[in-house]
Amino acid sequence: MLRWAEVYLNRLLSNYRVIKKLSGKKKIFAVVKANAYGHGSVPVAKFLEENTDVHGFAVATYEEGAELREAGIKREILVMASMLPEGIHLLKDYSLTPVVYDFEELSLIRELSLPFHVKVDTGMGRLGFLERDWDRLLSELYNLPVAGVMSHFSSADSDEEFTRYQFLKFKEFVEKLKKFKPDVAVHVDNSAAIPKKFDSLLTHCRVGLALYGSKPYRGYEAELLQVMEVKAKVISVKELPPDFPISYSKTYRTKNKEKVAVIAFGYADGLLRSLSNRGSVLINGKRCPIRGRICMDMTVVSVEGVPVKKGDTAVVSGKEITFDEIAELAGTIPYEVMCDISPRVKRIYR
Ligand code: PLP
Repeated sequence: MLRWAEVYLNRLLSNYRVIKKLSGKKKIFAVVKANAYGHGSVPVAKFLEENTDVHGFAVATYEEGAELREAGIKREILVMASMLPEGIHLLKDYSLTPVVYDFEELSLIRELSLPFHVKVDTGMGRLGFLERDWDRLLSELYNLPVAGVMSHFSSADSDEEFTRYQFLKFKEFVEKLKKFKPDVAVHVDNSAAIPKKFDSLLTHCRVGLALYGSKPYRGYEAELLQVMEVKAKVISVKELPPDFPISYSKTYRTKNKEKVAVIAFGYADGLLRSLSNRGSVLINGKRCPIRGRICMDMTVVSVEGVPVKKGDTAVVSGKEITFDEIAELAGTIPYEVMCDISPRVKRIYR
């Protein structure tokens, strides 16, 4: 095998316990959409269901929910970003919990008479009922089996004041709803918001990133372990002469003679091409800088002074070169870096 990702389930458990402690009495929805941010939604959900008191799972689509049920997942599955006309048969067959975010969805769910969560938009500008529609919404919810209410923070990683504003808006809606639906589940926290300890109104939280061991912002108050380690084999080692170009468009030239290794991992595997001439990989404990453009299936790295031979393993991301570090260097977020690890990279569960 030339490229693979090791997924350490004991680290997932450790992160779960850290989050559990931070979130107090709130029940946890583990967010496993997008194949559990690249970690494999079925193995991750199965492991959490078997080894923790996780309340349930949050996915984006009805298909993602159906896949979990087919694999034997029993706990609640919340479908957060889909559309009912498309998902009606899956919703019924697999007992999924839909999130209703507009009046069209609401009229469809009314016909089905199934429990659902309702989403209000308190400042994300994405899915959810806007404040101007809350009175009408509340009157329509009166006779419906609404089981939960949620909202989503846009900036819990970066803007304390706006997050507080969103929370207070959400609270306003929840208090009105609870007058006639006192037992609804109430959730808005994501990973970034958990340490902020919003008040006891909240019964659940929805956590993704932190479970997988990444920090939503610098200084995040939690000891997390990166769950996935991404690795590839060195498939060639050679010494290039001075003033020799490396890779497409010759964006790097050796100054002196330089020992380089080719690793079997490229942008088709999820190594962001913007890291060309900027990132590095770890070989035999040493950081080896990327030389020239990252290619589709291969990347050239400098191994000057590094004891390396063909067949050695390069760590693309792990404890030393984390998804957080890669994201910062590439000007993106760790979510994207994790999700980009392609299906061609076989997941191995440890
Ligand atoms: N809730 C919703 C609606 C989301 O879209 C997401 C993730 O994007 C989450 C919760 C989980 O967020 P995080 O991965 O930051 O914990």
